[in-house]
Amino acid sequence: MIQEEEKKYIINTYNRQPGVNPYLVKGEGTRVWDEGGKEYLDFVGGLAVNGLGHCFRPAVEAATAQLHTLIHTSNLYYTGPQVELARRLVESSAADKVFFCNSGAEANEAAIKLARKYSKQQHGPEKHEIITAKNSFHGRTLATITATGQSKFHQGFEPLVPGFRYGDFNDADSFASQVNRYTCAVLLEPVQGEGGVHVATREFMSAIREMCERYKLLLIFDEIQCGMGRSGKLFAYEHYGITPDIFTLAKSLGGGLPIGAMLCTDPVAAGFSPGDHASTFGGNPVVCAAATAVMDQLLQEGFLETVGGKGQRLVQGLTRLKERFPAEIQEVRGLGLMIGVQVKDQGKQIQSRAMEKGLLINCIGEKILRLLPPLNVAEEELEQAVNILREIFEESKP
Ligand SMILES: *Cc1c(COP(=O)(O)O)cnc(C)c1O
Repeated sequence: MIQEEEKKYIINTYNRQPGVNPYLVKGEGTRVWDEGGKEYLDFVGGLAVNGLGHCFRPAVEAATAQLHTLIHTSNLYYTGPQVELARRLVESSAADKVFFCNSGAEANEAAIKLARKYSKQQHGPEKHEIITAKNSFHGRTLATITATGQSKFHQGFEPLVPGFRYGDFNDADSFASQVNRYTCAVLLEPVQGEGGVHVATREFMSAIREMCERYKLLLIFDEIQCGMGRSGKLFAYEHYGITPDIFTLAKSLGGGLPIGAMLCTDPVAAGFSPGDHASTFGGNPVVCAAATAVMDQLLQEGFLETVGGKGQRLVQGLTRLKERFPAEIQEVRGLGLMIGVQVKDQGKQIQSRAMEKGLLINCIGEKILRLLPPLNVAEEELEQAVNILREIFEESKP
């Protein structure tokens, strides 16, 4: 049995449980199948990684062709797919340059290192502190758990990395009160993901941008979850009419393959010199070929508008559910196809009931159901998901 072998050989960090977590063997588009042949509608999407669904054909084909041509060379040499991907990212964003790595945490590590290096050079050797938001999530390395403003991720791993302070999300004054002579940057998710799907307000984002100008701080956006079209725009910051100095991507960038990226403006990029940072696998040709196919789909005329439309339809469906079950559902929120449904309690139970009925959703804590369908999800699939949730609330009504 895979479940028993897993327990025997894999370090227990994920709390997988037979009957709660299915054994998945195949995926296509919005659907996955378990070993018994049961089909699920997948609204977890590998935690926002399968942005264009499972086995997105153009990415599979691009990666396959590259696998047969050249898999890895190291960054001692030039390779084409890396530059192709960087060009697309730069041409469609506020950034001028890209650094490639393999995961979200690594992308944020790169951003933290660059912010320190650049600021020390530009504004003095004392500059190093970064202000992040309470309830944020930035990764699992030592620096990125410290950047993460939730103590449950810190406990047992002390001493943490020095140089982080925390402000209240959507409260610019709280951030301003943390600025001092050591501050070099602010790091924020425009939409908090793991923290429970909280969307930054326009006023907050503008005030933070202004504050960064005033005190010569770098503004870093962590778009690892909310970027790559998830919000209905290619990058979530586009909703706010402001641009970051640095931003990070990972999750859905590689169409399911592991990749991270740190992007920044030309002046900030000059903070790094050869030898300052590196990644052995970073910019791997196979993964970059897949990511380029993902970018090409997102950049297709009209595609991102459909994401916004589908997000609205899903929110409408869920809002109707909330009206029908006002005691059970407290709030429906989100941006684009990154949606949180706050329930009164029993979120975990709703998650398992949904799984039994063939819908995969993710519950954060006990109260927030997170829905992350692929951006190319069909309208009927959105309806199907809402119907399954409706059944669950109907059945649990006393
Ligand atoms: C998932 C996530 C990360 C960490 O990414 P990993 O690839 O797991 O290291 C960082 N920031 C945000 C906003 C995320 O959602």
